[in-house]
Amino acid sequence: MKLTFWGAARTVTGSMHEVGLNGNRYLLDCGTYQGRRREARERNSHLPFPAPSVHAVLLSHAHIDHSGNLPTLIRNGYHGPIYTSDATADLCVPMLTDSAHLQEMDAMYLNKRNRRRRLVDEDASEDDIQPVYTTEDAEKTFPLFQSVPLHTPKEVGPGLTYRSHDAGHMLGSTAMTLLLEEGNRKVRLAFSGDVGRPGLPIIRDPEPLPPVDYLIMESTYGDRLHQPIESAKEKLADIIVRTAARGGKIIVPAFAVGRTQQLVLLLHELMDAKSIPAIPIFVDSPLAVNVTEVYRKHTDWFDPETRIFTNNGDDPFGFSRLRYIRDVNESKALNDLRGPFMVISASGMCEAGRILHHLRNNIEDPRNTVLITGFQAENTLGRKIVDKLPEIPIFGDLMRLRAEVAKLNELSGHADQRELLRWLKPMAPTLKRIFLVHGELSQQTALAQAIQDEYRLDVQIPTRGQTYQLD
Ligand SMILES: [Zn+2]
Repeated sequence: MKLTFWGAARTVTGSMHEVGLNGNRYLLDCGTYQGRRREARERNSHLPFPAPSVHAVLLSHAHIDHSGNLPTLIRNGYHGPIYTSDATADLCVPMLTDSAHLQEMDAMYLNKRNRRRRLVDEDASEDDIQPVYTTEDAEKTFPLFQSVPLHTPKEVGPGLTYRSHDAGHMLGSTAMTLLLEEGNRKVRLAFSGDVGRPGLPIIRDPEPLPPVDYLIMESTYGDRLHQPIESAKEKLADIIVRTAARGGKIIVPAFAVGRTQQLVLLLHELMDAKSIPAIPIFVDSPLAVNVTEVYRKHTDWFDPETRIFTNNGDDPFGFSRLRYIRDVNESKALNDLRGPFMVISASGMCEAGRILHHLRNNIEDPRNTVLITGFQAENTLGRKIVDKLPEIPIFGDLMRLRAEVAKLNELSGHADQRELLRWLKPMAPTLKRIFLVHGELSQQTALAQAIQDEYRLDVQIPTRGQTYQLD
């Protein structure tokens, strides 16, 4: 029995780990690698093993860096099962459809550019670029999902039993424990998926895992401590109250999956408590609208506070001042609407999507506020706004940044160092070794040190393609 790390090794995206057992190959996650365009295309289109040789896939949660490359596996001939939670399987439908659409658009853009280049350069490549995968590949993926309820042991191959646990990271997110049996050897292996945080809106807190021998653990914020979640609601209310008093608009770039639904729930609570003025609120993102539909269906994943809404027959993601927008003309109509109002739109890092129009129309007015609610990677438009550059390039024009820029960092879905150490504690006595994945190296080394200081455990930080024997 062995373990090979193919993605999220010393980086945060492209989660994919391989378990080899009794001559069979299993994948834990099959996520999209995100990075520089050419490298990402290369990495996502070429799998490091023949796809039909995979016996089964176990998926921790729906985020695209964990699920997004499943259609590539199918495109290359995989027909086997994908075991995951019911909510994850349902969330993957709108998410992989959207991702396939983005891949098709990307290939179309590159081909257009290459055709222009061929007009001036005879040596330019003649071949058209294919999308990494298509909508059709995504659609072939959906029937392969098999949902397994939490805590229910499921035999997924000879000698391999899988069990899932609530990871408290997003709707339907799981950690998993695997029992591996080969000959007369038995090994217990756990994979954390992404570890959530106690107190996040909507979902339950992360569960402790049963004792295991080996653990693959995420380390996104291995060297960081978050602001307390409790302060998020009050901070959000302050931002809305002061912007509305100026007659301004609040423009919120937010990830369509998870962050948008959290914000909507907090806004619902603030409206009910009359802590904010009854201004119109718009969620302007077709993906967010589709994902919210899936949230409404899976109330069994909600925490007790959110269930209060549903038990009263109320919709946590709907209230009288809130409107969801799919139609592009309705979205454009917001340009002419006078403030105060709030618009939540994607993408979360302002790289694409309708948020760009809202930013372009509103960042030059000092009455308005741009509210940043998530991590902004280097070189993204969102990062330029957080860094308050005086001029922001949008659609080729330099816009003056005069709107207020506010930050709400409290809603992160990933455990920080203290929370990771606490989550690990019940497992520490039996662990032989921990493999840290899903983190930049600086975060990983800091976490490895903290784990060694606190629990004296063997911690490895695997590189891509590295294999370990488990015994
Ligand atoms: Zn995640």
